[in-house]
Amino acid sequence: MNSELENAHFSAQNITKEFPTPGEPLKILQGVSVGLNRGDNLAVIGPSGSGKSTFLHIAGTLDRATSGTVRLLGTSIDSLAESDTPAFRNRHIGFIFQEHFLLPQLTAFENVMIPLVPSGRKQSDSSPADRARHLLERVGLKDRMTHLPSQLSGGERQRVAVARALICNPELVLADEPTGSLDQANAEKIGGLLLELQKENNAMLICVTHSERLANLFQRNVRLEEGRFV
Ligand code: ADP
Ligand code: MG
Repeated sequence: MNSELENAHFSAQNITKEFPTPGEPLKILQGVSVGLNRGDNLAVIGPSGSGKSTFLHIAGTLDRATSGTVRLLGTSIDSLAESDTPAFRNRHIGFIFQEHFLLPQLTAFENVMIPLVPSGRKQSDSSPADRARHLLERVGLKDRMTHLPSQLSGGERQRVAVARALICNPELVLADEPTGSLDQANAEKIGGLLLELQKENNAMLICVTHSERLANLFQRNVRLEEGRFV
């Protein structure tokens, strides 16, 4: 076993993923390995259908690998009981998807507070409401806290989703084409914000993107090709 990977704050080692079909199983991931330490960021690019979302789901405990090991902060995800996985995920991992998935009947502020509802979050020095306000200010939405998603622009909604992903101060942030449905100006703003907040929080960020421009802002870039990172 590669000890550098084993000691990383986040590591994926030799991840494979197959999906069953009536015929031969679909082999999507065929040995993906990567390690990140706190403060690291990584952009993942690759053709549509190459398995980028599949990898992020496995990295984020939303799906299990066919083989291989995912470790986060010393815990092997495979060793987590199914009943403990949601609390672990909520505590340590923040997600941003292409769709914002905000709840339409809740304000921006309330949407940011949603992940704090389940128990098991870390104690932080500031109160949760203060942190939600701080994050909304940081993403430029100080004057939009009581707006409903329908009263926000696409870029603003995605900035609420960024604040929501960070409310529990996750060590690992996973973003799946977070700027995919935005125009270039908004896309760059979100990308820049994600990187700034990741550094501020000394978190790890893995971001899938189609934008070479965005990918070039990251410390490291990998391409998912034929089931492997190259
Ligand atoms: P990407 O995000 O790179 O566009 P995905 O990870 O979403 O690609 O999907 C990779 C491949 O795996 C696609 O061919 C897709 O059809 C297939 N796939 C994804 N999820 C499933 C699933 N739950 N069952 C079967 N096939 C799947
Ligand atoms: Mg995808």
